[in-house]
Amino acid sequence: MSKTTKAVAKKQVKTKASTKKGTAKKSISTNYVYAFGKKTDGNATMRDLLGGKGANLAEMASIGLPVPPGFTISTEVCGYYYDNGKNYPASLSKSVLKAIKQIETQLGKSFGGRSNPLLVSVRSGARDSMPGMMDTILNLGLNDVTVEGLAEISGNPRFAWDCYRRFIQMYGDVVMGVQARSEEEEDPFHEILEKMKRKLKVETDSDLSTENLKALVDQYKVLIRKRTRSAFPQDVFEQLWGATSAVFSSWRNERAILYRQQYAIPAEWGTAVNIQAMVFGNAGDDSATGVAFTRDPANGEKVFYGEYLINAQGEDVVAGVRTPNAIAKLADELPQSYRDLEKVRNKLEKHFKDMQDFEFTIEGGRLFILQTRNGKRTGLAAVRIAVEMQRERLMSQETALLKIPAESIDSLLVPVFDPKALKAAPIIGKGLPAGPGAATGRIAFTAATAEAETRKGNKVVLCRNETSPDDLKGMLHSQGILTSRGGVSSHAALVARQLGKVCICGASEVVINYEKKTLTAGKVVLKEGDYISIDGSTGLIYKGMIESADSEVKRVLEGGLKANKSYTYELFQTVMSWADKHRTLNVRTNADTPAMAKQAVAFGAEGIGLCRTEHMFFDGERIDIMRQMILAADEVQRRSALKKLLPFQKKDFIGLFKAMEGRPVTIRLLDPPLHEFLPHDDVVRRQLAEKLGVPFDFVIDRIKALHEENPMLGCRGCRLGIIYPEITEMQARALFEAAAQVSKGKKAIKIKAEIMIPLVGFRAELADQLAIVHRVAAEVMKKHKVKIDYLVGTMIEVPRAAITADEIAHEADFFSFGTNDLTQTTLGLSRDDMGLFYDQYQSKEIYNQNPFASLDQTGVGKLVELAVERGRQTKPNIKLGICGEHAGDPMSIDFCHRTGLNYVSCSPPRVPIARLAAAQARLRNK
Ligand code: PEP
Ligand code: MG
Repeated sequence: MSKTTKAVAKKQVKTKASTKKGTAKKSISTNYVYAFGKKTDGNATMRDLLGGKGANLAEMASIGLPVPPGFTISTEVCGYYYDNGKNYPASLSKSVLKAIKQIETQLGKSFGGRSNPLLVSVRSGARDSMPGMMDTILNLGLNDVTVEGLAEISGNPRFAWDCYRRFIQMYGDVVMGVQARSEEEEDPFHEILEKMKRKLKVETDSDLSTENLKALVDQYKVLIRKRTRSAFPQDVFEQLWGATSAVFSSWRNERAILYRQQYAIPAEWGTAVNIQAMVFGNAGDDSATGVAFTRDPANGEKVFYGEYLINAQGEDVVAGVRTPNAIAKLADELPQSYRDLEKVRNKLEKHFKDMQDFEFTIEGGRLFILQTRNGKRTGLAAVRIAVEMQRERLMSQETALLKIPAESIDSLLVPVFDPKALKAAPIIGKGLPAGPGAATGRIAFTAATAEAETRKGNKVVLCRNETSPDDLKGMLHSQGILTSRGGVSSHAALVARQLGKVCICGASEVVINYEKKTLTAGKVVLKEGDYISIDGSTGLIYKGMIESADSEVKRVLEGGLKANKSYTYELFQTVMSWADKHRTLNVRTNADTPAMAKQAVAFGAEGIGLCRTEHMFFDGERIDIMRQMILAADEVQRRSALKKLLPFQKKDFIGLFKAMEGRPVTIRLLDPPLHEFLPHDDVVRRQLAEKLGVPFDFVIDRIKALHEENPMLGCRGCRLGIIYPEITEMQARALFEAAAQVSKGKKAIKIKAEIMIPLVGFRAELADQLAIVHRVAAEVMKKHKVKIDYLVGTMIEVPRAAITADEIAHEADFFSFGTNDLTQTTLGLSRDDMGLFYDQYQSKEIYNQNPFASLDQTGVGKLVELAVERGRQTKPNIKLGICGEHAGDPMSIDFCHRTGLNYVSCSPPRVPIARLAAAQARLRNK
């Protein structure tokens, strides 16, 4: 290896090792090419270097499965290719030549030779499979000479020319860029083919004669010359390098980038290139090609699943040129091949110990396996397959747990669209998937309409540019929420998740016009009252109504269905009990009402980690009293309003304590800027003035006085309680009064209250609020002659708090990381405004993940680590948790486990995901 190559390799190794997923140990290879076949260099463990496809081809070859011979150019070459202006390491061409020679010797064929030509496929293969995202070229090695050789040796000229025309088409498209030039234009090769079929009045490609195919080849060549001003290459090595470069280049095509974003695959990984001898499914009626799954990837059932086409090549199955047959039919058409395939199915599952998705070709009755990988599956299938494979002893409980993407649990819980109806539904747009599940209903543009329509018995989807606390009622009444602005921790997303509502936010291409009452998505214009459907798991928006239903698991948990009547519930329970056995992180919930708390407990929550008390003031009569308190001209007036609020707060807290039955309950003092409680429109402002008996101008003046340019960084959090101590006092009193009441009597509940002070940056801020809380606690305990078990802690949600955590810990019994604000303040990025540029950031791969959805571990995470370390320096046993939105995100949960937090606290519907993710974190980091 040259000095520069070594340096490049070293650099790649370093980058790869530092990525989230790049946990495997790296060694710098001296080799770029790995053969498989009679002689096999690699194996299944070498995915990082050989990609998933290359590693598994090597593995299959070494366990004796019928794999056509070939070789893999490693992912390191992909890194080199991009780092060196799309050039290759000097030694590569020699290694490739040697590997080609090995295939030639093994098969007795020659690459570019006239008599028995070797044809190869050139295919991508990244570490994690990215189905259909990158390019593939088949039948490479054909030219005007070798096509004649193939015709002779196969005794089937039609087949040879069919291969040639397919190759020119693929090569012309993928390598030479001869494609449709606009969305309206047809694929030019397809157009020529269709024109010929129309002229000859034939239905399918297989009706074309050898002469027709020869004419097609000529026409394709003319097309290529016309479009590219160069000839289709006749030199087989020029073809090979052209195809190799095209595959490496496709790592950075738009589709691949999008896919990587979706699945958090780092750009540095790169793809490998697999070059493999061709076998032909289009060699006659005893030949076929197909794709099969060892189990059903949609529902996980243990049935052989797949499809195939007789006398066809791989792309025909995918392209839908002909409709493939279900795999079971092969038992009638080619019975021996079907039996062989069944054997392969069993061998693959036993060996790879997971559901496999594999490609096969039958050439003249002989079966070949071209690829295998762990099959992509729905969430439900992931759970079922893991549980059943564990029962079949194909995997251990630990492995089974690790095999289930934690998010998959969600698909057992959320309402689902009927899959058939979904296929037929027209997609009209896409946004950020913010609240999983399926919702369908009439469009409502205002909270009032949502409520009115619901009362009439209609289902609605609330469609807003963004939502505010004023919309809460409307949100409660809606099946789902769609916003055109805001990120995944915007108000709409946060509340929707809290309420377990389906939500898509930041659908920036959707234009909502409140005046005209229209929603425009591309060319589709919908009016208020029209049906719309949203899938909060994928972010896809559909026109019209799609049927959906409550999940079985939810019905069991809510008592509407007997546990023994639902296999899905059995699966859910099994996975959850395994998870609880293995995790060390506790899982709490963010809940503001007894109903939410009960739901969370049913889902397995072990406490409340965040009750946002401001959410308790939005409803009914309270909002008016709250507004009265805010509008108060002096402390006397304010105290009078607070006195009226106290019974409401107390009642809420009693409800929460009861619902949690002795589990810890963390209550956070009021956080948002006060003006958020005041109405935005003049009509409501006037009504408020009348209700409170104050002049309209007074209301306007107060609103002006409270106005802030940047309320997120203004008078909120503990600052409120510091300038209006009577608010803190009221909240503390309500809490301790409630605790005193429920901890006495026949049905006494042991209270574990945790009072949390928000947005603290200075020790003195916490000390100020603490003094009030302790004073009120002492007063109430004395009055009621009870002892209440309580802690007082703080949120760590501004960088200063993290940096000075050693000082703050002197005052705090616990820290809870408010990573929504900590992300906002560390990145200097508003929680509500990232929709405008996020798409661009995504396509440029600047953020690997949305930092408000998955914790920015290398930035914000460092502050969390620092605060943990410094907090424990002062108080080794300080309780540590997280209650930002990240607490429900599996990757962030892994981070929390590694950082040594005691608990995560997420919205109720995410509790099961968090339980599983916490177990996985433990198993991964054992
Ligand atoms: C946070 O900032 O992470 C948090 C939980 O508080 P809120 O979202 O209410 O600001
Ligand atoms: Mg916060």
